[in-house]
Amino acid sequence: MFKLIDLPYKSLAPVISDQTLAFHHGKHLQTYVDNLNKLLPGSGLEDLPLEEIVRHSGLDPESRGVFNNAGQILNHELYFTQFASQPSCPAPTGHLKAQIEKQWSTIEAFKQDFESKGVTLFGSGWVWLQANETGELSIAQYGNADNPVAHGLKPLLTFDVWEHAYYLDYQNRRAAHLSALWQIVNWAEIEKRYK
Ligand code: MN
Repeated sequence: MFKLIDLPYKSLAPVISDQTLAFHHGKHLQTYVDNLNKLLPGSGLEDLPLEEIVRHSGLDPESRGVFNNAGQILNHELYFTQFASQPSCPAPTGHLKAQIEKQWSTIEAFKQDFESKGVTLFGSGWVWLQANETGELSIAQYGNADNPVAHGLKPLLTFDVWEHAYYLDYQNRRAAHLSALWQIVNWAEIEKRYK
């Protein structure tokens, strides 16, 4: 049985309001957890860890329901745990900083590219910073529940562009929401994932 993760903070306001956080974590993510727990018995995937469930179900069109719910749990767990109300590490450092600057020249240029790919993602989905096995980075747009894990890549940083992530606070202003999110990204967590 999967369980709803605890949040490592009480509030992310004003970037994400307490109301959005409560609905997003306590209602939307809880629903994906409940759905997956209903779908898993008898699927043959019930004893696997979450990432393996995502990988296996992603390859099987018959397992679309499992994939959608497992993918959304994985995406939201990585999303919620990358933030902090006052990040101890508010900017990239070390190897990750060097790699971003190698590929985008500046952190600011990387952020603009990332935001732009979030803004132009059509419909619901996620924009991701992901790494391949040699540590090369890329930014990808994935629709619905899809994610880097389903494509054999390492997930590092993600912004949720489903409307439920921002509509109460920003209405249709997705770009304003995405540019505000940098204030709460804790890069110590992103670097831990990159290692
Ligand atoms: Mn979401």
